[in-house]
Amino acid sequence: MALKIVHYNDPALRKKGVKITAFNAALRKLADDMIDAMHAAEGIGLAAQQIGQPVQLCVIDLRPVEAKFAWEYDGTRPPLELFMPLVLVNPEVIAVPEPTTTYEEGCLSFPQIHGDVVRPDEVTVKFKDATGHAHALRCNGLLARCVQHEVDHLNGVLYIDRMSKEVLALIDPELKALKKRTREAARKP
Ligand code: ZN
Repeated sequence: MALKIVHYNDPALRKKGVKITAFNAALRKLADDMIDAMHAAEGIGLAAQQIGQPVQLCVIDLRPVEAKFAWEYDGTRPPLELFMPLVLVNPEVIAVPEPTTTYEEGCLSFPQIHGDVVRPDEVTVKFKDATGHAHALRCNGLLARCVQHEVDHLNGVLYIDRMSKEVLALIDPELKALKKRTREAARKP
């Protein structure tokens, strides 16, 4: 059955993910199902919180996006096709604080709501894949942004938490309407 993506302000989005210790078939099935859900929703990233499961797992696929960014995967530069969709288990992000960039982000848990977020342009993320092997990915641009956005989700942090007051004021009516829709949907049997 297809996974359902939860919307703001579902409480699952605020839960810090538990570290994954079992690298088994169930984990690989969950990662595959999350990749399917991300593709079906035409997203470029999805975190386990967004399907109501607070664990340290997120998926990313930037192959459909025409954006310039650089990467180094385990010290080499393989084509994107070789390591995407990316499955990040227990990821740890080390950001290079400067320079930062501003980009209008979206989120599958906030349909149609976009707003500027400032983030460091370059990160290194250390993580395990679904079979438990350790990797390091150094990247910048949209890929670095996507990694930071998804890993934030794993800690219960949302992109709205990183927006300025001015940006939040702009999208406030949409956020309130979404919150209301989510609350009403939760009441239905
Ligand atoms: Zn998101």
